[in-house]
Amino acid sequence: MPSTVTALAVPGAGKPFERTTITRRDPRPHDVVVEIAYCGICHSDIHQARGEWYEGIFPMVPGHEIAGTVTAVGGGVTRFAVGDRVGVGCFVDSCRECESCRAGEEQYCARGEVGTYAARDHTGEPTYGGYSRGIVVDEDYVLRIPDGLGLDVAAPLLCAGITVYSPLVRWGVGPGSRVAVVGMGGLGHLAVQIAAALGAEVTVLSQTLAKEADGLRLGAVRYAATADPETLPRLRSAFDLVLSTVSATQDLDAHLALLRVGGTLVNVGLPPGPASYRPYSLAGGRRTLAGSKIGGIRETQQMLDFCAERGLGAEIETVSVDEVDGAYDRVVTGDVRYRFVIDVAGLGEAG
Ligand code: NAP
Ligand code: ZN
Ligand code: ZN
Repeated sequence: MPSTVTALAVPGAGKPFERTTITRRDPRPHDVVVEIAYCGICHSDIHQARGEWYEGIFPMVPGHEIAGTVTAVGGGVTRFAVGDRVGVGCFVDSCRECESCRAGEEQYCARGEVGTYAARDHTGEPTYGGYSRGIVVDEDYVLRIPDGLGLDVAAPLLCAGITVYSPLVRWGVGPGSRVAVVGMGGLGHLAVQIAAALGAEVTVLSQTLAKEADGLRLGAVRYAATADPETLPRLRSAFDLVLSTVSATQDLDAHLALLRVGGTLVNVGLPPGPASYRPYSLAGGRRTLAGSKIGGIRETQQMLDFCAERGLGAEIETVSVDEVDGAYDRVVTGDVRYRFVIDVAGLGEAG
């Protein structure tokens, strides 16, 4: 029998959250049933719940930074058992056959990975995310949360953590790398920690110096304010890699100029509008402008293990299920240190 779970949904773009109930499918042989304890609030949730990227599927239950405990497994499940601490990230299925899926990069599935929410699964049913008490996911798309990581500080790693870990590893960041992290929000504060743990010399470029002490504590060696018109010109050609996590449109030319010859600007921020740059900003220094989207299941597990081994996790502020609308406003105004995590247990059990 499908089960009914409590959830928080937005009925339409930009509308406030309402408590509701949703139906989760009867577990299939390879499914894992997860009781959700915590779910992070990603800025992508806000872009989608407010209809900033595209129309969206409503009612929408956002949430793709999910951490909880396994409460049941299908008969064919081999990798998880009742009681295991697990996570679910940004997608819950993919075709498994295309080049990307076979390479373990399911996030680039040629047929489109099935988003954890605001998407349709392979049967055409809408998906609902982690602002809910429970979720049913195929075991191939479930992550193991290592014992050393609390479920609350682990939850944001399922999107924010992997989104910054993947490009840092792909572009070979290690000892001797000079890395700038632009924007110190949910993604950015994890990028600082992970880049520093990989051995890089990390500089934070934030709008102001308000979070400087935190940035240095998290592993940066330098923290500079982009609101100061002298900051970016002073740092010309200073970095091998610039990782931009900014949720708003920014001046790409000014940021490309921060790269040494052959350097790369990886943009992971996804503001809704278009971006532009002058071709000479690339040609003038054989620079690369790149993007990156979350990470595959295998790499996400590597990232979780890496963070657990080094004692890294998100710095969080836990909010109740009644505080999510206010938390959204606070993310947009930059008033979060550094990730809101919803205590989903407050939704109670479905009646
Ligand atoms: P966040 O917590 O709101 O952090 C974004 C940071 O960007 C802010 O803390 C702020 O940093 C900076 N910022 C905001 N507005 C700015 C402006 N007008 N000018 C300059 N800087 C500004 O958001 P997040 O959850 O980290 O997500 C960041 C972006 O990444 C979002 O667009 C999200 O959709 C996207 N995202 C992409 C992926 C992917 O796979 N590529 C995955 C997850 C999220 P300072 O206060 O330090 O200046
Ligand atoms: Zn996200
Ligand atoms: Zn595929």
